[in-house]
Amino acid sequence: MKGLQMVDTKTQYQKIKKEVDEAVLGVLESSVFIGGKVLGDFVDNLAKYNGSKHVIPCANGTDALQIAMMALDLQPGDEVITPSFTYIATVEAAAVLRLKPVFVEVDKHTFCIDPAAIEKAITPKTKAIVPVHLYGQSADMETIMAIAARHHLYVIEDNAQAIGCDYTFSDGSVKKTGSIGHIGTTSFYPSKNLGAYGDGGAIFTDDETLAAKLKMIAHHGQSKRYYHDVVGCNSRLDAVQAAILDIKLKHLDGYIGARRKAADYYDTAFANHAKITTPYRAANNKHVFHQYTLILDGVDRDGLHSFLAENGVPSMIYYPVPCHKQKMFDAFGGSGYTLPLTDWLTERVISLPMHTEMEEEQQAFIAAKVLEFVNK
Ligand SMILES: *Cc1c(COP(=O)(O)O)cnc(C)c1O
Repeated sequence: MKGLQMVDTKTQYQKIKKEVDEAVLGVLESSVFIGGKVLGDFVDNLAKYNGSKHVIPCANGTDALQIAMMALDLQPGDEVITPSFTYIATVEAAAVLRLKPVFVEVDKHTFCIDPAAIEKAITPKTKAIVPVHLYGQSADMETIMAIAARHHLYVIEDNAQAIGCDYTFSDGSVKKTGSIGHIGTTSFYPSKNLGAYGDGGAIFTDDETLAAKLKMIAHHGQSKRYYHDVVGCNSRLDAVQAAILDIKLKHLDGYIGARRKAADYYDTAFANHAKITTPYRAANNKHVFHQYTLILDGVDRDGLHSFLAENGVPSMIYYPVPCHKQKMFDAFGGSGYTLPLTDWLTERVISLPMHTEMEEEQQAFIAAKVLEFVNK
């Protein structure tokens, strides 16, 4: 059996090596490393794939969030409602701009922000909601957009973990996550579902005025070279990464299929176990399984994590400390929050190896080791 990894980017690369090597060499030969046709083509293809009118490429998913918040003219002290059960980047972007992150609970089944909790957290200072499509499944976007419309709030979707996820509205229409809110953001960090071979990110919007502003902010606040109208930053996706991503974008639906197949295998292996809850799959959206995350009940989770490591099975705890308990947010009143469900999940979740190259033999071994410990 091949050695186990959380993510196997190497085998994935070997399967598309010829295409990727040629594209990268093409960029090197052209010596157009910033901007240019290769980047432009990728941006167009990504916009088409996501059903978004505009895509603004940038340096990483954290920048994408920050630039989005800057483009919406959010001011210091403005409140941004977000889950605490997320990767730090979501909230860090707000904190850098001196906005006030307001942490709310997630839904116990989807791990995504709980719309009822959003509604309760809205104050006159609230300006935006930042739902995170955690582990590859969409938040309840229809309800969130309705709340936002009622209270005149912006919605920025943190789609770093769910690119390619289809969300179905109650009228039957389908949209990709990241194309539903006023702005969507994503990350091309190598282990993400659409991963570069380095850093990268992108911002999505259908609003032409916002698109121009986002682009300007990502380019030192200029729309005309050397004329700087607003305070911006410098955040670029380079042509080498764009060339790689353009090839991987063609494979993305196939990659999602491979992840869903691997998830099905795990689901069957752990079905109806009293101490294991397998990932919930909401009927209105197609989980793209960035992570395959179990909830354990009555199991020594950290003991399982160590037992798996001793047996050559990697596993991860996403995330061991929720945002509101991070030292970083002491200054933002983080310690004042009581989020029992978030704390409950933080103590019970564990993510198993999940990627596009999983083999059944590997999954059988992983499942057997998990069950050996849990059934002990
Ligand atoms: C990865 C990730 C980010 C940040 O992306 P980077 O490219 O690493 O900056 C933001 N939000 C979530 C939910 C992520 O998983």
